[in-house]
Amino acid sequence: MARPENDLMAPLIWSAKVPHKLKIFAWLLFKDRLNTRVNLARKHIIDSDICPQCAMTTEDSNHLFITCPLGQS
Ligand SMILES: [Zn+2]
Repeated sequence: MARPENDLMAPLIWSAKVPHKLKIFAWLLFKDRLNTRVNLARKHIIDSDICPQCAMTTEDSNHLFITCPLGQS
């Protein structure tokens, strides 16, 4: 029986030899709880979830850190 994803990632994140605030950031990224525009729009905090840097698509964690063409500079 496969273990839930949390059971596999949690020890890697929380036992890492990095500052605690980086562990918290990694956990929030893993759980998709960072304040990206998609998550803020889902909570009705902002109206638009479009990436303000490139205006090409929605700003989720993947777009923010990996696929945004203007976020890579
Ligand atoms: Zn973008």
